[in-house]
Amino acid sequence: MNRSDFTANWHTHNFRCRHARGDFADYARAAIDAGITVLGVSDHCPTPDDRDIGVRMFHSDLLGYIDGFRASRDAVPGVNLHLGVELEHYRDILPAYAEELLSRGVEYIAGATHFFMSRDGEKLSAWNEIAESEQPRRALEYGDFVVEMIESGIYAFIAHPDLIGCFCDRWLPECEQATRKIAATARDCGIPLEINTSGYNKPLKVDAGTGERRAQYPWEPFWKAVAEEGATLIINSDAHLPESIVQRLDDALALCDRCGIEPAVFPKVSNNRLCC
Ligand SMILES: [Zn+2]
Ligand SMILES: [Zn+2]
Repeated sequence: MNRSDFTANWHTHNFRCRHARGDFADYARAAIDAGITVLGVSDHCPTPDDRDIGVRMFHSDLLGYIDGFRASRDAVPGVNLHLGVELEHYRDILPAYAEELLSRGVEYIAGATHFFMSRDGEKLSAWNEIAESEQPRRALEYGDFVVEMIESGIYAFIAHPDLIGCFCDRWLPECEQATRKIAATARDCGIPLEINTSGYNKPLKVDAGTGERRAQYPWEPFWKAVAEEGATLIINSDAHLPESIVQRLDDALALCDRCGIEPAVFPKVSNNRLCC
């Protein structure tokens, strides 16, 4: 893939989550300037009980989000704007809540992997440090949780499925095992996995295995294993600012080259599935 082939970006945000800036039209204009013709806005989805509210819009803002999209959809010619949300896999309200979102006009749901559930039912954040001795079993639990997400059929794609790289200090055999399971399930279910370029802007981490500084995500050994399993990949920018609409694309393209993978570009969405 060349830079100019990056014409569809399905993961961007909106001021409503309170840690991003800009509204639909701002991202649409930035997209056009960057040669993007298909733009999905997928802000952090609220829940009816406003859980984890520090990083997402309030439930009372959802209507304004949907109406804001409708008002902006045709306002910027030259880009096809689509309405999505980025939703955590909250088992207790799914799949019913997902169906409600889709019935209200949300076109697609991106699966977020910021949290995962342990086998003991503990909610763990992939961003938090995990003791080295715990990392092997947490890596497997993370993998099983992402597999559950893919198999649920709720998500059009899985956003940054490699957050395992945030809490694992080195590429463990369990990372390999978890990744292979995620990738094989994604391949068999036809659900794309996302290389998330915003990860390149996060603080680097010194890898305990290689001794080198690396991005927490995208994590290269993850994508090498995905490439071998033959799952479909997409690149998204996860922009939280209009000017970040194609942030760090060259790093993602170089990663794909090293892994020998060709990302897919999906120009359309239908029934909560990215398609051609
Ligand atoms: Zn965010
Ligand atoms: Zn995001």
